[in-house]
Amino acid sequence: MFGIDLVNKTNIEMSRFKLEYIWLDGSQPMQGMRSKTKIVGSDFSGKLSECPDWSFDGSSTQQAEGGSSDCILKPVYICPDSDRKNAYLVMCEVLNADRTPHESNGRAQINDKSDEFWFGFEQEYVIEDPETGLPVGFPKNGYPAPQGPYYCGVGTGKAVARELVEEHMDICIDAGLNIEGINAEVMAGQWEFQIFAKGAEKAGDEIWVARYLLERTAEKYGLKINWECKPVKGDWNGSGMHANFSNELLRTANSKETFHAVCEKFRGKVKEHIAVYGHDNEQRLTGLHETASIHDFSYGVSDRGASIRIPLYTVEHDWSGYLEDRRPNSAADPYKVAAVIIDTVTS
Ligand code: ADP
Ligand code: MN
Ligand code: MN
Ligand code: MN
Ligand code: MN
Repeated sequence: MFGIDLVNKTNIEMSRFKLEYIWLDGSQPMQGMRSKTKIVGSDFSGKLSECPDWSFDGSSTQQAEGGSSDCILKPVYICPDSDRKNAYLVMCEVLNADRTPHESNGRAQINDKSDEFWFGFEQEYVIEDPETGLPVGFPKNGYPAPQGPYYCGVGTGKAVARELVEEHMDICIDAGLNIEGINAEVMAGQWEFQIFAKGAEKAGDEIWVARYLLERTAEKYGLKINWECKPVKGDWNGSGMHANFSNELLRTANSKETFHAVCEKFRGKVKEHIAVYGHDNEQRLTGLHETASIHDFSYGVSDRGASIRIPLYTVEHDWSGYLEDRRPNSAADPYKVAAVIIDTVTS
């Protein structure tokens, strides 16, 4: 039982703040998220510059050997955590003890210090019932009705686990993430959220924080988030993370030739791109289910079966706008996806 003294003590400490330091571990084939809480004083301003570096045991996260296990956490992004009392979320980069970027640190690979590149990621994911290991909406045995009614659907049996999705969206908005929308996807139990940012690092930071918040919110419901790109084999859509991108050149091109020339740069770099577009992507990029084959490279206006889609928006704005690389999958690291796109466009 709590005594009166403890209650008073709790009240006094209410004004101190909780900083949740989040980082990416060394797991393969998809890096996992780890986090731990640092308590700071009531005078904490909420500014990133006031978040000290911290460290963790890299030998427990596949990031170091036991003999010299310390890795450094360098805070790079902060936002309020509305679902936790007096709290902030602090996204971190992982550094080696000598402060060079750790090999697991995809953010450090981004070559755009001026934030000229803008990214809009469409993160798809599947909500899974841990007891059956199947997407919510799938019966224990057999399958639900075939795809068709689920995409942007409404009604019991069509939109499944909406409560979790709505709660996650609200927490993202309250955190100040630039979430642009959500929708139910083509497979039962599959959903999407979109996040846009001016700057590749920021776009990656916000996707990872939104992923973290989704995992944490799902804990409350006893549900699991499945980031795999093809959780159900057969005639069921996989999960992507389309990367919409632009730079100054594309936003002001006013030229079909410029767009085609940028797309052509991607043709010679297929291997480099597929290498960071998420594991098991050959299961998803089959040429079916609104994808292009992993073995081909193609682009086209409004073409959802192409590797890169030129959105109608771009054509209607006299060939100024953005491109959509449809190949990155749900499990890809947005930092690495952005880094390779920037390198190819600027090559
Ligand atoms: P769809 O499902 O039709 O592919 P969405 O609306 O889900 O389209 O996603 C389109 C994304 O493109 C949005 O996240 C949006 O922010 C992004 N976007 C729009 N304009 C730009 C731009 N100039 N640069 C980068 N991304 C952009
Ligand atoms: Mn310890
Ligand atoms: Mn979309
Ligand atoms: Mn989608
Ligand atoms: Mn898309």
